[in-house]
Amino acid sequence: MRIDIMTLFPDMCEAFLSESIIGRARKAGKVEIGCHDIREYTKDKHRRVDDYPYGGGTGMIMQAQPIYDCYQAVKELSDEPSHLVYMSPQGKTLDQAKVRELSEYPHLVLLCGHYEGVDERVLEEIVDEEISIGDYVLTGGELPACVLADSVCRMLPGVLANEDAYTLESHYGHLLEHPQYTRPPEWRGREVPPVLLSGDHAKVDHWKLEKSVERTLQKRPDMLENAPLSKEEKKILAEQQTTLCAEKNN
Ligand code: SAM
Repeated sequence: MRIDIMTLFPDMCEAFLSESIIGRARKAGKVEIGCHDIREYTKDKHRRVDDYPYGGGTGMIMQAQPIYDCYQAVKELSDEPSHLVYMSPQGKTLDQAKVRELSEYPHLVLLCGHYEGVDERVLEEIVDEEISIGDYVLTGGELPACVLADSVCRMLPGVLANEDAYTLESHYGHLLEHPQYTRPPEWRGREVPPVLLSGDHAKVDHWKLEKSVERTLQKRPDMLENAPLSKEEKKILAEQQTTLCAEKNN
């Protein structure tokens, strides 16, 4: 897969995406990532890329031409068709299902807006979809693009140690992940649940499932509303709900 980010601040994205797991994946050739400076494509002699909004209002608007020309160049970096995502607080909120869907595209291009936003005409011309990382407004699309690129990259083959690393995590399925522990077995009087030290794999798996259901019920009960629970998960949930009711009544 190839991801290209179009931005006025390529160093911001490059710095984040060169480190840790994604940085190593890039070096190992598991994913190609390019960060492109939209300003390189301006035809303005003063290298301007923004201008005042028609109709008045505060702030500046990114102009259509440099973005369009940048996209024409970036499209050529892959032989595969490009899918262009505009990072925008007006888009559909990113979730794990969308991350999974995006990880199937061979060439993702991410457009980062800045200032008050982007001339609508270039968005109409080139954007395939708009994605938001939450209902709040940031100064630019660079952090959202890095969030999206990170979440997509870790699903690509060979980026994490094995598939379990993400398929058993919160949000991949319909439950949150169980609590995790590492050495030492006792810390400040708090012990690791004994079942995790028992070596009994069936018991450990059952404990993990129980805790996943319990956590989801406690922290994100909304996720359970339409969840396709297995027979075992339904049984555990019914038990947990009974315990919760009994605790409330006492
Ligand atoms: N005036 C725009 C509006 O009200 O919809 C907001 C512009 S914002 C200050 C500048 C840029 O930051 C946007 O063009 C977008 O690329 C990015 N951005 C801000 N918040 C975002 C969010 N929650 N998710 C994705 N991108 C965001």
